[in-house]
Amino acid sequence: MATILLEVATPDKGEVFAKEINMLICRSIAGELGILPKHARLLTELIPHAMRIKVDGGETQLFIGGGFMEVTPEKITILADSAETPDSIDVERAKSAYKRAEERVNSFNKGDTEIDIKRAEAALARAKARLLVKGVPIP
Ligand code: ATP
Repeated sequence: MATILLEVATPDKGEVFAKEINMLICRSIAGELGILPKHARLLTELIPHAMRIKVDGGETQLFIGGGFMEVTPEKITILADSAETPDSIDVERAKSAYKRAEERVNSFNKGDTEIDIKRAEAALARAKARLLVKGVPIP
């Protein structure tokens, strides 16, 4: 089966993932993208999500907290704000972040103008995606 190299790095951790894969399904600001080997060149921005990686006949997920993706026919390079493999996600931390963000969104909806709603919604999206990668039901 044809493969394409996927490299994911973050400013905090450096390289988080580097492997030949069969397919990547990710979310860009323009919508969902499926990337196969020999894909056309592409440069896009990613939103926080649970990225799906098809590899070795199976599928794994990687949390991506937003960032940039460059695709060439041989290689996918992602520079992410944050990224985690399933085994490195702290579920309790993600649950707390979810609760905190949800409370902020609720306060905003009740008229609290002190809340930075964009920031709260982005934190909520990150926490949701982390819990999704771990298969934890979202409350
Ligand atoms: P929190 O409010 O818990 O810090 P966050 O979404 O604001 O969550 P980020 O800004 O995305 O956090 O990430 C900051 C750093 O902390 C990154 O290195 C990221 O990988 C790590 N990180 C954040 N949340 C978790 C988690 N639940 N499990 C493991 N690492 C995490």
